[in-house]
Amino acid sequence: MEQGFDITLYEQNNFLGGKLGAHRDSDKPDPHEHCYHMYLNWYNNFWQFMAEIGAADKFIPSTVIGCRFPGDKQTRPYLTNPGSPATILTNMLNGVASPADQFLSAYSLLDLIGTQSMSGAVLEQTSVSNFFRSRGYSTEGSLTASARTLAEAFASPSYLSSARSYQSLVKYGYRNPTPSLWLLTQNTNDGIFEPWRRHLEARAKELKRRFKIHFQMRVESLHLTDGEVRELTLGEMPEEPTTDRNVDPKPSKTWKVNVPGDLVLAVPPGPLGRLVSPEVAACAPKLETVRELRSEPMISLDAYFKCRIPGLTKSITLLLGSKYNLSLLDISQVWKEWPEGGGTALNVISSNADLIADYPKEVIREIMLKELQRFLDFKLDDVDYDRCHVQTNVGEELFVNQVGSWDSRPKAVCEIPNLFLAGDFCQTFVDVVTVEGAVVSGLLAAEALRRKHKIGAPIDIIQPDSYPAFLPAALAAALRPAAFAAKAVSMADSMMRSNFSRIFPNG
Ligand SMILES: Cc1cc2nc3c(=O)[nH]c(=O)nc-3n(C[C@H](O)[C@H](O)[C@H](O)COP(=O)(O)OP(=O)(O)OC[C@H]3O[C@@H](n4cnc5c(N)ncnc54)[C@H](O)[C@@H]3O)c2cc1C
Repeated sequence: MEQGFDITLYEQNNFLGGKLGAHRDSDKPDPHEHCYHMYLNWYNNFWQFMAEIGAADKFIPSTVIGCRFPGDKQTRPYLTNPGSPATILTNMLNGVASPADQFLSAYSLLDLIGTQSMSGAVLEQTSVSNFFRSRGYSTEGSLTASARTLAEAFASPSYLSSARSYQSLVKYGYRNPTPSLWLLTQNTNDGIFEPWRRHLEARAKELKRRFKIHFQMRVESLHLTDGEVRELTLGEMPEEPTTDRNVDPKPSKTWKVNVPGDLVLAVPPGPLGRLVSPEVAACAPKLETVRELRSEPMISLDAYFKCRIPGLTKSITLLLGSKYNLSLLDISQVWKEWPEGGGTALNVISSNADLIADYPKEVIREIMLKELQRFLDFKLDDVDYDRCHVQTNVGEELFVNQVGSWDSRPKAVCEIPNLFLAGDFCQTFVDVVTVEGAVVSGLLAAEALRRKHKIGAPIDIIQPDSYPAFLPAALAAALRPAAFAAKAVSMADSMMRSNFSRIFPNG
């Protein structure tokens, strides 16, 4: 729009934001996010948008990622500003693993971002697990610590996750490690997407451009003439189709519209795969590879309580050793304007959702609440069942940065000259699936479109900063003797533990 284009947006849901969005069920006031989100320092383009729409001051810094073991009375620090020299000792002594294993886990990340022995392409085809196992200093404890963090971040086991994507996440984070992350003090619909919509509508008026959003309208198929997309079939969606498990949501009616200019498809890999018909693939054969990309659902439970649950903090908290890889955010502490004296409200995420995603939602709620009880002090009578809400997110899965997936990810442009692609799964310099990856992919599509029409000035797209690889490589080389010493300590420690448990099997 800033470059002089009129814009029509078709969104299948009745709210904006997709996987970053929040919706309200028609008969209830509580907003439900797809998942709580962490916003990182290096999301330069995202922060620029937040400043532009006046939302930057709605975020608060969070230095700590917390954790709990079963039976814990209080959330404890798991990682504090990871990558910061000031918190190395704090993180080593977090009590989750032995200090030696914690050191090795942190050291392996330094080694990963400094590695020069493997080219980017080789690293992309190497799993995180393989990379770490190939390092002589690794121990079972350090591998477990790395796998734990990865399962939370990527919803994908370390033996399937691309080492290069993980490297991107770590190298951008380590360059600017304080605070660990930022949290939004409102739900994303009210905090980001409504202000964004209002901002765009106001800008359209100022610029005298046409900007129209059509909600609950799904793009069903593309129709080509002379190798260009010239028509779309649209479907009117009767309900919110992607927040609930809905095997095959059908539109109540369909019709065709013309595409007078260009089309940007900013839909996830699954829906994109469905739009790549034989007609589309005949013109842009590479787009078929999007079907090779893998995504994983992460179940979201909004758990409301009639009272305060003791011992919780404002931090994102991992429930270590939980079934279904649970983590949570206490939104009643983070969201502003929470009623005084109101009970605790948690957004609980299962990042190993495959195990339970097919159960009825009431069963999922019970299973997750029971598992939660192992970590938090509450009775089932304390639960405000009327307000609890389960979202299986099946149909809105998280794209996973799997080993070797890069070549199957589309670029912003394809062989169809008026078709552009965007989304967190597209090839960008960000690589790792994040809000910033999605934002950058949108900017790259906009820039490609602008260049095609040869109008306006180039769109400013900011790359995240990182240390030149030789710096972490030199530091890793200098610390290598310490890493092998830590390995010796860790092995001696685990040998003593296993001997002890052989002699005293009951502890
Ligand atoms: C559980 C979970 C936790 C996450 N945590 C974090 C985090 O902490 N930090 C972080 O940076 N990132 C996180 N992410 C990743 C981040 O949410 C996504 O990368 C980002 O939101 C993706 O944006 P997108 O625009 O590419 O896709 P989406 O958000 O999926 O948007 C696609 C949009 O297209 C619409 N659509 C789909 N098909 C059609 C169609 N045919 N017609 C019309 N509309 C259609 C959808 O309704 C949706 O609105 C997380 C993701 C998940 C799933």
